[in-house]
Amino acid sequence: MINRLCIIGVGLIGGSLSRSLREQSYCSTVVGCSRDEKHLQRAQALGVIDHYDTDIASAVRDADMVVVAVPLGAMEAVFTAMHPGLAEQAVITDVGSSKASVVEAARTGLGDRFTAFVPGHPIAGTEKSGVEASFSELFQDRKVILTPLPETRPSAVEAVRAMWQTAGAEVLDLEVSHHDEVLAATSHLPHVLAFALVESLARMSDRDEIFQYAAGGFRDFTRIASSDPVMWADICLANHDALLAAVTRFQADLNELQDTIERGDRQGLLDVFSRAKQARDRYADGQQ
Ligand code: NAP
Repeated sequence: MINRLCIIGVGLIGGSLSRSLREQSYCSTVVGCSRDEKHLQRAQALGVIDHYDTDIASAVRDADMVVVAVPLGAMEAVFTAMHPGLAEQAVITDVGSSKASVVEAARTGLGDRFTAFVPGHPIAGTEKSGVEASFSELFQDRKVILTPLPETRPSAVEAVRAMWQTAGAEVLDLEVSHHDEVLAATSHLPHVLAFALVESLARMSDRDEIFQYAAGGFRDFTRIASSDPVMWADICLANHDALLAAVTRFQADLNELQDTIERGDRQGLLDVFSRAKQARDRYADGQQ
């Protein structure tokens, strides 16, 4: 149980976590914090938070658990601003989509409180943003990855693990660099490809006609290109080493596929598409 939970960034992820924990009566009070008071008033009206405060140091005062759910580019400033207000018992965690950059931001911003910080990442989300898009079932049966460091207090890790399990998630531990490589391949690269494809088509002179004839395949493949540009620009910059490695690998594979098409190599195409279909079907079966 958490007595006082502070969510900094009451958007899709922060708002969904708060909704879920409140439904389970896992915390007595939830304090929300972000820059825009109107967003916080809306979150309060929706019953996502009990109170709000736009000052970070005063929002975290007396909190047992502080969850930082802001865009990656804002993390360091938020950690720095909360430091003077943190209670002795406070555990701090985040939900950022890349971990090495957040660990560095927390090391700098939290200073002597860094051992109470547990880096985390829920592998759940939608292409929508803001508290209006939040819902309590978002983390149900989804994975949350924690990337604790050797100096992270074990009791802090267990408190964060218990919080996510209460929200219905399966909690796994990974090393920071392993997390960033895996997520670059499975999440960050697909988002870059979706943005790139839609941008490429949108720049064609006959784009209106093209989009008019786009059907289910286009819709499935490009749904994530409706995601928040600020969030994804931050993710690409924060995880640039691992992402660049994934882009380079993919470019080589795409070049090879281009050669296969140019050669008119039907068997080559069948081999690639059959292997991909098998892998995708196995993944889909596993999801069910
Ligand atoms: P979101 O819906 O846009 O929410 C972000 C929240 O942060 C908003 O409430 C915003 O409110 C607040 N905020 C922005 N800058 C701030 C600052 N400088 N100081 C204080 N508050 C600030 O975004 P989200 O999708 O929940 O993403 C939040 C984090 O979750 C990101 O780090 C992202 O990498 C991670 N994540 C996202 C997904 C996903 O699919 N969306 C999945 C997993 C992890 P104000 O405008 O009022 O400040």
